[in-house]
Amino acid sequence: MCEYDALPEIGHGCGHDLIGVISAGAAAALKTVLNGQGTIVVYGTPDEEVSCTKVQFLDEGVFDELDVALMLHPYKHTCTQISSMGIYPIQFEFFGKKCHANEAGPQCINALDAAVMSYVSINQIKQYLDANIHGIVKNGGVLPNIIPDYACLQYFIRCDAQWKTELAVQRVTRCVQGVADSMGVQMKATNFSAANTTFLNNGPLEDVLKANLDRLGEPVTVDPRDRISTDAANVSFRIPTLHGMIGIKGCEQMDLHTKEFADATVSPAGQNATRTGILALAGTAYDIWESASVLNRIRQAFCLGLEEERKKEEKYGFHKFSAE
Ligand SMILES: [Zn+2]
Ligand SMILES: [Zn+2]
Repeated sequence: MCEYDALPEIGHGCGHDLIGVISAGAAAALKTVLNGQGTIVVYGTPDEEVSCTKVQFLDEGVFDELDVALMLHPYKHTCTQISSMGIYPIQFEFFGKKCHANEAGPQCINALDAAVMSYVSINQIKQYLDANIHGIVKNGGVLPNIIPDYACLQYFIRCDAQWKTELAVQRVTRCVQGVADSMGVQMKATNFSAANTTFLNNGPLEDVLKANLDRLGEPVTVDPRDRISTDAANVSFRIPTLHGMIGIKGCEQMDLHTKEFADATVSPAGQNATRTGILALAGTAYDIWESASVLNRIRQAFCLGLEEERKKEEKYGFHKFSAE
């Protein structure tokens, strides 16, 4: 998978200029040794930062033909496994009945009141959810002398496990629906942009990358604080997916999404990281292509990972949170 989007004003502060080159370079190198036995597909997946194209690709089934999806992302150090935060963008729209503030009576149904009550209610329940939940009033009416017949709240719900996201979304939606019902307001919940899941890590796949990095003499760091959000996470729930991080020397103290990191991607250290990334990714793909048992282990780990997620959803799921 190739990425190549930059950030406004900062430029390539996320290093996506290297991702495209690493993936395309690895595919070109691999092609010379596969001799037509096997298929390499290079996908250009732009705008990971905003529109999350990989999610659209998934919806269209374009990854379904693959055994594995691979990519490396530039970072402050090299690591084979990431933990990730899923982001679920949810919008609640409220539809009431408009009337002049002077003539407000039983015929009025104030959509803003439902939004405000929902906002307060979400604040009440979020203390019991293992989720980062923040929202805004996107639309609260036009003028003070018009009782609003429309209001809109937008929230990001972030969690470090997919089952937690599912649970938080269900509980928040249930809470808002309850408020809307109690006030006679129609409510509609939708995603206002693409949702990123958490990443389903795949141990055997990461082991293959680790072996290739070791062969190249590239040091690998393990730090549980390494955490990102990415649309590659959605792919990881469809097919086994690798999203390793390749370190740029000298960036150990830098954060992604900074001008300094953007400058580092086009430095000699950035070029070295690109070269190492190409070799590591090509070697990883080759090892998977060459060994049916490696691919089997990757597939088994993938199925097991999905099953574990399903069990957690079942164990902690919505149906447990009922007064009955
Ligand atoms: Zn980024
Ligand atoms: Zn990025």
